[in-house]
Amino acid sequence: MSTDRTLVDMGQHVTVAIIGTGFSGLCMAIKLKEAGIDDFVLLERAGAIGGTWRDNTYPGCACDVPSHLYSLSFEPSASWSRAYAPQSEIRAYLERCFDKYHVRPHVRFHAKVVSAEFEDERWRIRIEGGEDLTADILVSGVGGLSNPAYPKLRGRERFRGEQFHSALWNHDYDLTGKRVAVIGTGASAIQFIPEIQPKVGQLTLFQRTAPWIIRRDDRAFHPVEKFLFEKVPAVRWLYRQKIYWQHEWRAFGFTIYPPMLKAAALMGKANIRRSIKNPELRKKVTPNYTPGCKRILKSDDYYQSLDKPNVEVLTTGIAEVKEHSIVTDDGREVPVDAIIYGTGFAVHEYIGPVQIRGRDGADLATAWKDGAEAYLGTTISGFPNLFMLTGPNTGLGHNSMVYMIESQVHYVMECIKLMRERSLSFVDVREDLQKQYNESLQNRLKGSVWSTGCASWYLNEQGKNTTLWPSFTFAFRARTRRFVPADYELGKSKLHIVKPKPKERATAKLNGRANPA
Ligand code: NAP
Repeated sequence: MSTDRTLVDMGQHVTVAIIGTGFSGLCMAIKLKEAGIDDFVLLERAGAIGGTWRDNTYPGCACDVPSHLYSLSFEPSASWSRAYAPQSEIRAYLERCFDKYHVRPHVRFHAKVVSAEFEDERWRIRIEGGEDLTADILVSGVGGLSNPAYPKLRGRERFRGEQFHSALWNHDYDLTGKRVAVIGTGASAIQFIPEIQPKVGQLTLFQRTAPWIIRRDDRAFHPVEKFLFEKVPAVRWLYRQKIYWQHEWRAFGFTIYPPMLKAAALMGKANIRRSIKNPELRKKVTPNYTPGCKRILKSDDYYQSLDKPNVEVLTTGIAEVKEHSIVTDDGREVPVDAIIYGTGFAVHEYIGPVQIRGRDGADLATAWKDGAEAYLGTTISGFPNLFMLTGPNTGLGHNSMVYMIESQVHYVMECIKLMRERSLSFVDVREDLQKQYNESLQNRLKGSVWSTGCASWYLNEQGKNTTLWPSFTFAFRARTRRFVPADYELGKSKLHIVKPKPKERATAKLNGRANPA
């Protein structure tokens, strides 16, 4: 839903520019408004808000973290229809929040950021096909799941049938009766396969690595439950706490004591036995690595859908794609009408293809050539006033990313408050501190389940884990609770930054508060 009512036409300089309108961008915008900072812009490359929850519309798309937790803590919703709300409800939730908190007028749609350069103590941001703008502070709310990743398959461009990625689902293409190949068995594929299996003529699933899958136990909420969620906030709060702690304890197995994950393996194997009758298929889908090394998935119907006569699971690699078929490594040719890529996202790109230049022309891609790193996943030495939400090593395999986003946004706001109080023109995290932080983080990861030998997108090409937070989420929250000025080089040369507007000063006086400047 695009809008012409945009506040951001007001000028080419803003205090804060935020890239993206997903959970991160939204949360950041709300907190800025709460702090009385109104001259900010959200730059959105598409024509509607919502980020990954706008783009992913594949059948069966839902969150695999229960919605009462996968939502903003300060904006709970009593209206989730099910434990795991479908994509349409999550997107509607985001739309509602954009309106309720009056964030929508701050969004500049069809504004794809191509580069950002820190010069004269402000960020100069280039928009594809548009005018430059400048900002004191740049916040990336781009997220890790924004750019689809395609497998490098010989002959892929030769294919004459229909082919699309799960994140770019072609709803105009009718799959009924078609011979469909699905590549990938990650979180997205296991959600859409049960939806398309009854429709298609033949489904050939190319599985490279079997995922561990436990039961999701999804269910619709009873009207009485919804009534209680709405009328008794304590019930809603307790339910959220229950989900949080149910997920949080898994961090113990992931990061401190992987043998504990044997219980998850037993649950996963029981799920296979319960759901699949075919012994050969059972064997094919049984993983051979410690659960959690790759994300543990949840489903109540994926295995059942594989055990159907119109489905075949192939575990041999793909040698090439031809005009109307896929040829496997062992020479078998499978005729197909359509290929669906459930092959995930370019998660290691972080701020993605945007070219970022920091102090003295430092290039972020070069700084990150051996793997992305930041301080608290948020700030990067040499790139002042740049804040990355869901940045390096803030990802989770066990709990809600919205919790991490809120922790980071709090940290950024603490920093902005300090900048206002001390009239700082920039903050730049100390290089030695960033190095020390990342060394300790990588050491901690060594004892984790993610270092038990499986290949996963958690690791970059060099085998370094640049994606996951190696501890409890409450530990991250504790680290981000306070912004410590001594951790940063503080720039005081110019005083243009986030100074409260006269209107705000007057309000502060009226409220009896000290003038924040
Ligand atoms: P994914 O988890 O990265 O899975 C990609 C799948 O494609 C894997 O099975 C992978 O196999 C396979 N693959 C990749 N390249 C391949 C190749 N060249 N040949 C054969 N197979 C190949 O992607 P996703 O399922 O789209 O999920 C991405 C992220 O979104 C994950 O973090 C996921 O948790 C998240 N997600 C979350 C939800 C939610 O409910 N919150 C829903 C959907 C997705 P290998 O395992 O062998 O690499």
